[in-house]
Amino acid sequence: MTYVFEPPPVTSIGIEGEAARFPVHRIYCVGRNYAEHAREMGHDPNREPPFFFSKPADTLVLDGDDFPYPGQSNDVHHEIELVAALSSGGDNIAESDALSHVFGYAVGLDMTRRDLQGEAKKMGRPWDTGKGFEHSAPCSNLRRAAAIGHPSSGRIWLDVNGSVRQQGDLADLIWSIPEMIAYLSTLFTLRTGDLIMTGTPAGVAAVKRGDVLEGGVDGVGTIRTVVI
Ligand code: MN
Repeated sequence: MTYVFEPPPVTSIGIEGEAARFPVHRIYCVGRNYAEHAREMGHDPNREPPFFFSKPADTLVLDGDDFPYPGQSNDVHHEIELVAALSSGGDNIAESDALSHVFGYAVGLDMTRRDLQGEAKKMGRPWDTGKGFEHSAPCSNLRRAAAIGHPSSGRIWLDVNGSVRQQGDLADLIWSIPEMIAYLSTLFTLRTGDLIMTGTPAGVAAVKRGDVLEGGVDGVGTIRTVVI
């Protein structure tokens, strides 16, 4: 095959303790997957189920790299999330089979231009400018499910400048990981290399330049990025 110009590079993330990298296909995100966060955003989790949106794969920020404060916003929020990475995919995946498609897990940040997202909600417009902007998806290295298992409980947390800002437990996910994969696979053909950001617990708030964001999920790993 020849191209009229060099194709864009493959986006990838590291795998803890391994030289080979995980090539990323798409990044799916789940909205309002923790009841407390749904309520802090002004929604009733008993009436509105979680939903999906996505970010382009090349919005990833690799482990330890800085997060450049984006333009066109004065209200950029952090959302700490467990990330599931798929080694295989398909359509209409059964819940009972879903975890067999998971390669491993990482810790990510669904960075959000909350002011642009709020305007989009109000106007009935897409969320891309609020959610899918450059550098909007910092993500730690992956750990293989074969090594750490499939986490279904454990603390998820984010400290900003050393103070706890977000805190929750994976046990409080409204949609479990198998439920997310099964449902997402009825909407899209899931593929090798897909990442799923699984939603954020309560405590989302604005960041400013100079902030040090350090978060983690017990049993999975940690992430650190500096807002520049
Ligand atoms: Mn999120």
